[in-house]
Amino acid sequence: MQPMQLDPTDPVALTKALIRCESVTPADAGALDVVKAALSPAGFRCDRKVFVEAGTPDIDNLYARRGQTGPNLCFAGHTDVVPVGDASGWTSPPFEAVIKSGVLYGRGAVDMKGAIACFIAATHRYLAAHPEAPGSISLLITGDEEGPSINGTVKLLAWLKERGETLDACLVGEPSNPQALGDEIKIGRRGSLNGEIVVHGKQGHAAYPAKADNPVPKLVWLLDRLSSLVLDTGTANFEPSNLQVTVLEVPNTATNVIPALARAKFNIRYNDLHTRARIEEWVRLQCAAAARASGARYDLTFSGTGDVFLTKPGPLVATLSQAVHAITGRTPALTTGGGTSDARFIQAYCPVVEFGLVNATIHQVDERVAVADLETLTQIYQRFIAGFFAAHG
Ligand SMILES: [Zn+2]
Repeated sequence: MQPMQLDPTDPVALTKALIRCESVTPADAGALDVVKAALSPAGFRCDRKVFVEAGTPDIDNLYARRGQTGPNLCFAGHTDVVPVGDASGWTSPPFEAVIKSGVLYGRGAVDMKGAIACFIAATHRYLAAHPEAPGSISLLITGDEEGPSINGTVKLLAWLKERGETLDACLVGEPSNPQALGDEIKIGRRGSLNGEIVVHGKQGHAAYPAKADNPVPKLVWLLDRLSSLVLDTGTANFEPSNLQVTVLEVPNTATNVIPALARAKFNIRYNDLHTRARIEEWVRLQCAAAARASGARYDLTFSGTGDVFLTKPGPLVATLSQAVHAITGRTPALTTGGGTSDARFIQAYCPVVEFGLVNATIHQVDERVAVADLETLTQIYQRFIAGFFAAHG
């Protein structure tokens, strides 16, 4: 089916059209053409931006805006998807978008082509009911969320800022519900920090330890200290902060050789009692103390992006909660768990909340969405858009 022939008020047709684009990061495979074709008839001005950076794949992105004045309500999402995994394990081919017994199967069905389709359909329905709608509606769609997230949302936001474009509030359509629509709205995310420790020793014969310096016990000592200390016991909106050792490597295959170095990697998910800078400082102090006790010589480096953030309960959260309740009859919990999303970048520009489909099958074989959920989410989004502009009217 050509994108032009789609009914832009039908979230199921839009979701199917998007799934049929094999947009595994970094490929776009026509997905943004589908979005653009669905938005243009409603008066959206669509800008496509390809961002490039040496050593990373080029990424196609889209910013669409309808309206000239504020407030500007932005929907953020991604059309890229993770690989299909074991293709033979799928009920139907992952890019065919087949419906069986009221369930639509396909990679990206819930993460998150379905939500993009629902937001487009909701926008068309809202504008049909409010042709003189105040303010602006915009969509910020990247092709780089499941990848390195370098040539996507971060650069698109910077480009918007350069142009003097303001976002007043943002809804990220990541699948936020564990079981059913209405479970949870994400109002923040923990920070995520990666660390790597390399302990240096001196290689030698295992029978002559005095002539060598074994880095392995020193690294273990250090990791034991990092792992066993309690960072905090959680806050009103966040789970306790947590450090997990994720990689342990000693490049050695011989049992009679003391190795020259030992390496470990770890990940810390931290809450709003901390900042990225303070967490790094805490790790440095703990490593220094452990190294003093063991005599370890080590290098410590940090990587990863995404500081902790919280959108405090206020008008934006209330408007979305009310929309969810009005359509589903359920009161969503306001949560901050789970992995990071592009909301971590957007929160530096405007208040941001996350609400989308059910996340039970994301990144799995047989990723799927109940067809009924696509209609329900469309109605929630339409109600949210109406509530947002009513509050600003
Ligand atoms: Zn996603």
